Amino acid sequence: MSEFNQPIGGNDLARFSGPNTFMRLPQAQALDGLDVAVLGVPMDIGTSWRSGTRFGPKQIRAESAMIRPYNMATGAAPFDSLQIADIGDLAINTFSLAESLRIIKESYDAILTHDVIPVAMGGDHSITLPILRAIAAKHGPVALVHVDAHADVNDQMFGERETHGTVFRRAYEEGLIQPDKTYQIGIRGSGYAATDFTEAQGWGFQHFPAWELWHRSLKPLGDEIRRDIGDRPVYVTYDIDSLDPAYAPGTGTPEIGGLTTPQALELIHALKGLNIVGCDLVEVSPPYDTSGNTALTAANLLYELICVLPGVTAR
Ligand code: MN
Ligand code: MN
Repeated sequence: MSEFNQPIGGNDLARFSGPNTFMRLPQAQALDGLDVAVLGVPMDIGTSWRSGTRFGPKQIRAESAMIRPYNMATGAAPFDSLQIADIGDLAINTFSLAESLRIIKESYDAILTHDVIPVAMGGDHSITLPILRAIAAKHGPVALVHVDAHADVNDQMFGERETHGTVFRRAYEEGLIQPDKTYQIGIRGSGYAATDFTEAQGWGFQHFPAWELWHRSLKPLGDEIRRDIGDRPVYVTYDIDSLDPAYAPGTGTPEIGGLTTPQALELIHALKGLNIVGCDLVEVSPPYDTSGNTALTAANLLYELICVLPGVTAR
């Protein structure tokens, strides 16, 4: 018997049975003794186009039931050395975005009084701003690996300053991130002006547009980013729309010409060794995910992110 929580195995209890927790891990009420807390933020009131990410955590958990504990490609065995549990969903207020962001910040403040790495399942990308506020309050300004079709650096949308498209401008303005250690990977699509990305580059953000990454391995880029960050605390925010809609159609603002699933795996694998203090995966919209592949991919990318957290051993 391991001293660490184990996912329920598919040979012990039918995969379509059991608790709807991430990988069918135990659901924890208390954070004491946990190294990693997986949680849901079921929210879609920060979106600008298609809705549905409120159903993201439930569906990611459902699709995660097929994931096995050992990583065949990297050797990572996260459940050998870390105590990991699903702590459920944050009790957001679906009638108020501002109130929900406040609840997320306060919930993260409470979570981060423990020595635990939070791994969030979104939810739309607006959840990442209050998360970064709490992360920075604990760790100071963090390096940021931001994988997304969009830079999310608008100043406002309909006059609103806190939406899923304004997150990283606010994070920059509030000093939550280290701008010259902020990497935006996979950005693409049509814009409003040729200068849409240049202002953020002026702050120091490093941009890796999808069209410069097509047909290429992302291992060299991941290795370069890992070396550049060094031992700084780093937050990883993964927008599922960074992937091409062929791989991840179930999302609110899809953009063609995106990254591939193997590229996503290469990038995440290269992050092993970083001092990751938290991560999220956002923008999975199950109503637009007719095959379930988007939630399945999201569940696996979350598993891969857990596999590169500090303290994970390999076999
Ligand atoms: Mn985004
Ligand atoms: Mn996006």
